[in-house]
Amino acid sequence: MAKQPMLKFVTVNRDMPHKRDAETRNKDFAEIYAEFAEAKAAEQASRCSQCGVPYCQAHCPLHNNIPDWLRMTATGRLEEAYELSQATNTFPEICGRICPQDRLCEGNCVIEQSGHETVTIGAVEKYITDTAWEKGWVKPITPAGERPESVGIIGAGPGGLAAADHLRRAGVQVTVYDRHDRAGGLLTYGIPGFKLEKDVVMRRNDQLEAGGVTFRLNCEIGKDITFDEIRNAHDAVIIATGVYKTRDLSGPGAGAAGIVRAIDYLTCSNRLSFGDSVPEFDSGELDAKGKKVVVIGGGDTAMDCLRTAVRQGAESVKCLYRRDRANMPGSQRETQNAEEEGVVFEWLAAPQGFAGDPVTGVMVQRMRLGQPDATGRQTPEVIEGADYVEEADLVIKALGFEPEDLPTLWDQPELEVTRWGTVKAEFTTGATAMDGVYAVGDIVRGASLVVWAIRDGRDCAAAILERFEGAVEVAAE
Ligand code: FAD
Ligand code: SF4
Ligand code: SF4
Repeated sequence: MAKQPMLKFVTVNRDMPHKRDAETRNKDFAEIYAEFAEAKAAEQASRCSQCGVPYCQAHCPLHNNIPDWLRMTATGRLEEAYELSQATNTFPEICGRICPQDRLCEGNCVIEQSGHETVTIGAVEKYITDTAWEKGWVKPITPAGERPESVGIIGAGPGGLAAADHLRRAGVQVTVYDRHDRAGGLLTYGIPGFKLEKDVVMRRNDQLEAGGVTFRLNCEIGKDITFDEIRNAHDAVIIATGVYKTRDLSGPGAGAAGIVRAIDYLTCSNRLSFGDSVPEFDSGELDAKGKKVVVIGGGDTAMDCLRTAVRQGAESVKCLYRRDRANMPGSQRETQNAEEEGVVFEWLAAPQGFAGDPVTGVMVQRMRLGQPDATGRQTPEVIEGADYVEEADLVIKALGFEPEDLPTLWDQPELEVTRWGTVKAEFTTGATAMDGVYAVGDIVRGASLVVWAIRDGRDCAAAILERFEGAVEVAAE
């Protein structure tokens, strides 16, 4: 009888790829996890119990065929594993690096629920496609034939690029517009290199360009070109502009110098990684070196700012968050990484104002968690008389993002938005209230995840293709 290659979770322990020591990794912007060696990837994949009803797959927004590509990895059929993995995910090596797996696929792995630790799904997914790149299996898109229709995509983030990839594979003429000088959206200018190295994103941009996707960069819709011009130039338009309006701080001194927005701080740091010169860094405004840095917020953006400040050589790096650790929105894994790198967390601490201009300190109110609200989440309450001043000479606001007012900015009153300002779009197709105009990713969902933007982009591209096919059939009748 053939030897059983899978179900090794009873005898083989979970093992992640090597994580660099905090003392070494906190001095550079390279990724903190190494790659699995081939034998290790096969061993870890072999822990999967090949569930008949795979909860991991059900909880992956892309419904990746996880058990099958794990079995192929465990049995050395890596090229097939790659083919299967890329069939449902446009950027598997990116999701393998930055998906919050603990809340998605791995958080629902049944072997964890049976007392064994989860299969390292994300690390194997990354390994499969990184290997595919290394071996030359990842090729530029070569459509079987060209189609006459064209689609204009506004925004070169993961949502827009996933749609571009899907449409181009079907032979559609695709132009992606972005206000930045490089494609990738937050993959390029938001998420730091220690989570996602920039060449991983750039090689995807190059692959799309080599496959016939046209990029029009440094082109801001509403400023350099109007929305109507784009709509007139294409058979369909996808809005994939993300959310960039920073939630602001109020209170005395909130406008002082030295209080900056997370997106400006992270964009600057990412630009430096490309070798760009950034005047706001040279002037010291967005440089944490030698400073007492306080980051306000408890989400993934806050974690990224904290860990960037550590790498820039800050004197001290503190995080203020008004709830406790158990109630923070950011990933527990990233919080642990930040702690290992020397970040200090001040839980149950809310800013009520700022001292000095330039800023010298944050006036902090101590909080406790009170009664749960309608959603069941405990509401923070002020502890009277427990205020203090946290010294700071760089304060970074990382309280989340809201959508820009696109109907006004683009003079498109017909573009319907929700009461949160996000674009109203049909969930499975991305269709908006305007004929031939679709929307995907964060601009529809509000600040979300890369994997959801990819899902939206793929679904929307499929709906547009269906529309084009329908039009061709009608014309032929
Ligand atoms: P975006 O990636 O925001 O791309 C939108 C693009 O549209 C941008 O390039 C922008 O320049 C362009 N654009 C906007 N307006 C215009 C205009 N008028 N004209 C032309 N171009 C325009 N998600 C994860 O899954 N894991 C993580 O670890 C993670 N970390 C994050 C860290 C940070 C700091 C941030 C801010 C977000 C993080 N996210 C993470 C969330 C994730 O990055 C987003 O959910 C995802 O990028 C959304 O994709 P998108 O394509 O909708 O938009
Ligand atoms: Fe898990 Fe994300 Fe990969 Fe899906 S795409 S399998 S959620 S890491
Ligand atoms: Fe394998 Fe876990 Fe998915 Fe089951 S839930 S198929 S054990 S990875």
